[in-house]
Amino acid sequence: MSRIEMKNPIVEMDGDEMTRILWQMIKDELLTPYIDLKTEYYDLGLKNRNDTDDQVTRDSANATLKHGVAVKCATITPNAARMDEYNLKQMWKSPNGTIRAILNGTVFRTPIIVKGIEPYVKNWRKPITIARHAYGDVYLNTEMHVECAGTAELVFTAADGTRTTRLIHEFDEKGGVIQGIHNCTSSIEAFARCCFNYALDSKKDLWFGAKDTISKQYDHHFKDVFNDIYEKEYKQRFEENGIEYFYTLIDDIVARVIRSEGGMIWACKNYDGDVMSDMVSTAFGSLAMMTSVLVSPTGVYEYEAAHGTVQRHYYKHLKGEETSTNSVATIFAWTGALKKRGELDELPELVDFATRLEKATIDTIESGRMTKDLALITTIKDPVVLNSADFIKEIRKTFDKEG
Ligand code: NAP
Ligand code: MG
Repeated sequence: MSRIEMKNPIVEMDGDEMTRILWQMIKDELLTPYIDLKTEYYDLGLKNRNDTDDQVTRDSANATLKHGVAVKCATITPNAARMDEYNLKQMWKSPNGTIRAILNGTVFRTPIIVKGIEPYVKNWRKPITIARHAYGDVYLNTEMHVECAGTAELVFTAADGTRTTRLIHEFDEKGGVIQGIHNCTSSIEAFARCCFNYALDSKKDLWFGAKDTISKQYDHHFKDVFNDIYEKEYKQRFEENGIEYFYTLIDDIVARVIRSEGGMIWACKNYDGDVMSDMVSTAFGSLAMMTSVLVSPTGVYEYEAAHGTVQRHYYKHLKGEETSTNSVATIFAWTGALKKRGELDELPELVDFATRLEKATIDTIESGRMTKDLALITTIKDPVVLNSADFIKEIRKTFDKEG
C-alpha cells in the first residue's frame, strides 16, 4: 500500500514519561505505516531541555511560527522534586508557558465525545470548547494587606507625567486588603482575534461573557474590544458561515451553558477560564479525553493533549508492570495537526486520513474496547480493558477494517 506523501513538515515536540512512550507507539502503529510522515523534530524531554538550557523549547516555538503547525507531547514542568530526579541546572519554566508567550496564543480546550462516556450534564450532546485569555488580571496582580486606618488610591502616571488619581477606599483602623490588576488592550485584541478566527475555522458560535455592568471600565473594555473587532473585521464572515458572536453577562452565560446542548466556543477572561475549564472537563467525564490547541492571532496552531505526562503510570511502566494509559487525547493532537497541515497544503487525502483515524478511535471505544480509566466510568456493559499498547493496536485493527 502506498503511503500518503506530505508537502510541508509538522513541528514535532516530543515530551516526557508515559506520554513519551505513547507518542512512539502512536507513530509506529497509527501514523508511519500510512503516511510518509514529514516532521521537524524537537526533543522537549526534560533531559534535553536541561542539556540545551531550554533553547530547544524556544527553537521549537520559533519553528512553529515558521511552519504554522505543531504537535506537542506532554512535558514535565519542573518542581523541587524534579530538580533532584533529573539533576537540573535550573528549575526551567513551563514549556507551555514559553511556547504560549512566543506564539502570543490562546488555548482552546475541547472534550472528545464518545457514546458510553456520558457527560454529567445530561443535555450536553456536543463538545463545549473553552478559550482562556491567558494574560493578566489577578494572575499578574499587586496586593497589599493593610492593618491600620488609611487611604487607598489608584494612581496612573502618564508618559508625559500627568497623574490621574481615583479613591479606592478609606480604611478604618482594622485595615483590609487591596489589589491592583491590569490588562493590556493589545492582549485583549489578540485574544479576541484568536477567538474569532478559531470560531470561523471550526464553524462554531462564539460566546463571551464578562461583568461589564459592575465593572464599567475594566470588564466593559473587554466587551468593547470584542465588539469593535467583531463589527469591523469578522461580522460579514460570521454571517457568511452561518455562525454567531454572542455577548452577555458572565452569570447569564453560565446559566445558558448549563441549559444548552453544547457545541459553542466559550471565550473566558483569565480567571473564568481557569475555573470553568476544570468544571467543563470534569463534567464531560475525563481529562484523558480532552484536547487542547494553542492558536496564535496570526493563525499558527499547536496541538496537544490537555493532560500531563501521567507520571504514576510511567513509574509502573519502568518497574515492568502493565499500564492502561489512555492515548486518545494524544492521538487527537496528531490528527488535529495532520488535518490542519492537510488543509493548509491542500492535501485532502491527509485530512481524510486524520478524520478516519479519529473515527476508528471513537468506534473502538464505542465497541467496548478501552483503557481502564474509561472502563471505570462507561455506561457500556462489560467493557474489555486493554493495556496501553493493545488499545493502540485495537485502533489500528478498527482503522484497517474500516478502510
Ligand atoms: P497528569 O499527568 O495529567 O495525571 C494525573 C492523573 O490523571 C494520572 O495519575 C491518572 O490518574 C489520570 N490521567 C491523566 N491522563 C491520563 C491518561 N491519558 N490515561 C489515564 N489516566 C490519566 O497530571 P500530574 O500527574 O499532575 O502531572 C504529571 C506531570 O505532567 C507533571 O510533571 C506536570 O508538570 C506535567 N503536566 C504537563 C502538562 C502539559 O504538558 N500540557 C499538563 C499538565 C501536567 P490515575 O493515576 O488515577 O490512573
Ligand atoms: Mg484551573
